[in-house]
Amino acid sequence: MEIEKMTALELSKAIRERKISSCEAVKSVFSQIDKWEDKTQSYLDIYRKEALKEAEQTDKEIAEGIFRSPLAGVPVAVKDNICINGKRTTCASKILENFVPAYDAEVISRLRAAGMVMIGKTNMDEFAMGSTTETSAYQTTRNPWNTACVPGGSSGGSCAAVAAGEAFLALGSDTGGSIRQPSAFCGVTGIKPTYGTVSRYGLIAYASSLDQIGPVGKNTADCAALLEILAGKDQKDSTSIKRGDLDFSSALTGEVKGMKIGVPEEFLAEGITEEVKASFLEALKAYETMGASVEFFSLKTVKYMIPAYYIIACAEASSNLERFDGVKYGFRASDYEGLHDMYKRTRSLGFGEEVKRRIMLGSFVLSSGYYDAYYLKALRTKALIQREFTAAFQKYDVILAPAAPYTAPRIGESLKDPLTMYLGDIYTVAVNLCGLPGISLPCGRDREGLPIGMQIIGGLLQEKKLLCAASAYEAYRGRFETAAERGMA
Ligand code: GLN
Repeated sequence: MEIEKMTALELSKAIRERKISSCEAVKSVFSQIDKWEDKTQSYLDIYRKEALKEAEQTDKEIAEGIFRSPLAGVPVAVKDNICINGKRTTCASKILENFVPAYDAEVISRLRAAGMVMIGKTNMDEFAMGSTTETSAYQTTRNPWNTACVPGGSSGGSCAAVAAGEAFLALGSDTGGSIRQPSAFCGVTGIKPTYGTVSRYGLIAYASSLDQIGPVGKNTADCAALLEILAGKDQKDSTSIKRGDLDFSSALTGEVKGMKIGVPEEFLAEGITEEVKASFLEALKAYETMGASVEFFSLKTVKYMIPAYYIIACAEASSNLERFDGVKYGFRASDYEGLHDMYKRTRSLGFGEEVKRRIMLGSFVLSSGYYDAYYLKALRTKALIQREFTAAFQKYDVILAPAAPYTAPRIGESLKDPLTMYLGDIYTVAVNLCGLPGISLPCGRDREGLPIGMQIIGGLLQEKKLLCAASAYEAYRGRFETAAERGMA
């Protein structure tokens, strides 16, 4: 089998058996990059020399019989809001154009300890704010299935890279859907873990109570294997939790007989395209065929999810982004009169339009006159949403939902109307508000050939149920080829 067609686990097995070297794997990724990167623009930085060096090191260890992890030697891409020691980390923002962190994020230390090879940094929406990767200050990433379309966002670079065979695996971050939605648009698989499962140390914060790092890959098993490497308690992140059930791969049994699946009927009511709905309903049928029970139920808080999410996310963002002032990091305006003017000009020039909109919105909802009316109300609404999900998970093992109401929009369409773009996050944001785990995996393609994704949501700490349900669907569906394999990029 050609290397680029392998899954990460197939590759690592071949590396372990010394049929393929990690160096060969890295070279194969670079040749895919040479082939597609001009079109997809997935990467902001590529580490050609270092990656080969790291791969050589792993090959040496493997020759000595040292296997650091089940993914040792596998190339992985990293979203550019995750700090790598000595490497430019920009969050796709001009304000961090020269920022080089002096430390590794916890997840990066874990990738290194696992012997994985870092290929480079992937493009994203500026500070992870967006749903299309178009708010990047540097470049527009394109969907490998159709380069006239967006890859989704904000982890669009990571998902496009995997879809184009420019990486076997990638790290994304998900604050309101940024792993799951671009995974759906690019026809790959992505997991947003239970809040606290993966350390946020070294992840540049967007909305700290919602942010979570997770894996993107070609299928569920690859993502589960990477999640096992990423997950774990970290003293450096006080919100990280200790879990005794991190053997996620053991849940990939494919057995869903007797599993109870709930589907919120409001999710299918309006705004969803016929094609996405049809392919989602087909997936429900598949579960019934496999012996699971599927039941529709009413989730009454659906209409409050987007407002509550955007108020809370923007409030936290406005506070988190205060630190970018022209003094501590990266960019400073060259022309100013006095300290205040320096702050003002630096932030005016350094941040893009979408980021500024959110800082203003967030500052507004936190201001003394409006705190009760907006921010506090949003927190109360969040509590109601949480209560509804808790009740649902007393009845159902998992909840199924589409990942996005439509397939990848054309480039340039979404930013014209930010409010409509925000509404497109309807299926993903509640998962973050409630801290729940969610996975997005491909369940079909529309008539233009663009992938359609579905989402499986689990109760708190119930990754295993969600992985079990995902593995069953995959076995039923069969392999979902990447854009590169189909030759469509
Ligand atoms: N699209 C959502 C937003 O712009 C989610 C982004 C994310 O998960 N980082 O807030």
